[in-house]
Amino acid sequence: MVTQDTDVLILGSGGAGLFAALHAHRADPALSIAVAVKGLLGKCGCTRMVQGGYNVALAPGDSVERHFMDTIEGGKWLPDQELAWKLVTLAVERVHELENELGCFFDRNPDGTIHQKAFAGQTFDRTVHKGDLTGIEIMNRLAEQVWAAKIARLEEHRALELIKTRAGDAIAGVLLLDMRSGEYLFLRARAVLLATGGGPTMYRYHTPSGDKSCDGLAMALRAGLPLRDMEMVQFHPTGLLAGAYTRMTGTVLEEGLRGAGGYLLDGAKERFMPRYDAAAERATRDVVSRAMLSEMRSGRVSPHGGLYLSMAHLGPENVRRQFKGMVERCADCGFDLAGGLVEVVPTAHYMMGGVEFRPDCTTGLAGLFVAGEDAGGVHGANRLGGNGVANSTVFGGVAGDEMAAWVNEAGALQEPDRAALDAAIARCERPMRPGKSGHGELEALREALYATMWEKVGILRGAAGLHSALADLAAIDDALEAHALFDRSRAFNLSWHDWMNLKSLVAVSRVIAQAALARNDSRGAHYREDCPESGPLEQSNYTSVRRKGDALEIALRPVAFTRVRPGETLLRDAA
Ligand SMILES: Cc1cc2nc3c(=O)[nH]c(=O)nc-3n(C[C@H](O)[C@H](O)[C@H](O)COP(=O)(O)OP(=O)(O)OC[C@H]3O[C@@H](n4cnc5c(N)ncnc54)[C@H](O)[C@@H]3O)c2cc1C
Repeated sequence: MVTQDTDVLILGSGGAGLFAALHAHRADPALSIAVAVKGLLGKCGCTRMVQGGYNVALAPGDSVERHFMDTIEGGKWLPDQELAWKLVTLAVERVHELENELGCFFDRNPDGTIHQKAFAGQTFDRTVHKGDLTGIEIMNRLAEQVWAAKIARLEEHRALELIKTRAGDAIAGVLLLDMRSGEYLFLRARAVLLATGGGPTMYRYHTPSGDKSCDGLAMALRAGLPLRDMEMVQFHPTGLLAGAYTRMTGTVLEEGLRGAGGYLLDGAKERFMPRYDAAAERATRDVVSRAMLSEMRSGRVSPHGGLYLSMAHLGPENVRRQFKGMVERCADCGFDLAGGLVEVVPTAHYMMGGVEFRPDCTTGLAGLFVAGEDAGGVHGANRLGGNGVANSTVFGGVAGDEMAAWVNEAGALQEPDRAALDAAIARCERPMRPGKSGHGELEALREALYATMWEKVGILRGAAGLHSALADLAAIDDALEAHALFDRSRAFNLSWHDWMNLKSLVAVSRVIAQAALARNDSRGAHYREDCPESGPLEQSNYTSVRRKGDALEIALRPVAFTRVRPGETLLRDAA
């Protein structure tokens, strides 16, 4: 095993990871900074996939207070208010930084001001965008800056384990696998950022990129860190449904389509959303996804078992101009978005839950920072469309600044717990032993995971289904533990990586199911058919799960209303 040292180690190269790298570098250009990423820098993860845009209060009439209230109310009063405040206030600074320092060019109004469009669940049109390919603009500019700076790139390096000191009181570094050779690398670091981007890819229909398998959350869990709000998995209402044999199925058709006035139709081509909510298709994602599942359960479905999205009434030319990327993506799958109907299904999109953290991105482990989708508490029970990329870029930048300060003030290189390193390697080597697992077994286990999570821990949940899911997940994990790889070569062994992906996904799925059982009410993305009431907002609790030995310890903790209480508002004109 190779061992190297660095001042700052960043895991993941999405919006959070790259912003952190740039900010740490700018704060102190003398620092050695390394970005380790499972894929290629700037080419993987979900920030690149951002279509709709970036929420920020810029326009006259809007305000950070309004953005904050939308975030808190959309999150059903579960967000940590200090985190949400930091999000909305620093988003303003970050979007200017994206334009004026990094060179992003967002769409403009005729008068030269930045164009901001409507996104569901918000009281103001505040979503900044570059057509419907906003993430590519942001990631390309970010990656160019990182390439140009003195920042080390460890591409196709998979983080395997957070390694603490022997005393267990601080992070010492991270065990990585060089995917190109299959060799282990231990990188000692004074400060480490977890920015691997969560990603609910354990559900049959899901939107995130395939490199995301909740590795960061699984590592944090094994390191004993608490995860909050893990029952809160957001389903995006409009996943493309093009059959089981294309990876395009499950990919997202952006929220702006509903924001612009798109209709959802049942299998008989009738509009149904006005029956469920006054905001109809513009209701929040949780409301629309539940309504869609209810329609699907009633049997009024499209040929592939979903529903339809219709935009034609807005004028095909207009749709083609406004949503060029979406129109092309649908055409690739044989659908005419501008003038016809597109089959859609709710699809798992985002995890509001993640590692508990403070507004300065510190965690319960000294030297370990977290940002982006790996972090929990910013969005509570529901993330507003457009608040995801704001979250990763805002907190990524904060983490970079704070890590630079930490390294200069306190962070010394520490000796790792060698026993923990050996144990982590032994865990990863388990499927490399000789054995006779059949071809296709991992695929069957993935299918079993998809089925369990979609049917029993999905949009509608109940105690019986959740208990049954926990039993299923234990059985899948046992089967993974018993699995022996057919091909035991080390370089780019995708079956080995598949096994590791599944291990992470099952570990985190168990947390989701346990947290969903613990929350005996329905809030935002979490809907218990056996406990449909939301419970009193004044007594809002969040779930906090941590691993103790082999068991999961679950606590319900009160949300601190540090800025506004339920029934109050920060908006002066609404008082
Ligand atoms: C299709 C789609 C559309 C979206 N549209 C919007 C939108 O319009 N507006 C919005 O606000 N949000 C949107 N989001 C959400 C948004 O993309 C995310 O909230 C945000 O960008 C996540 O940023 P991140 O840096 O935390 O993670 P990511 O950008 O996902 O980056 C994670 C990084 O971690 C790496 N990684 C993973 N595991 C490991 C490991 N074990 N070791 C090393 N590296 C690892 C990955 O390869 C990747 O580089 C969308 C998401 C999707 C999937």
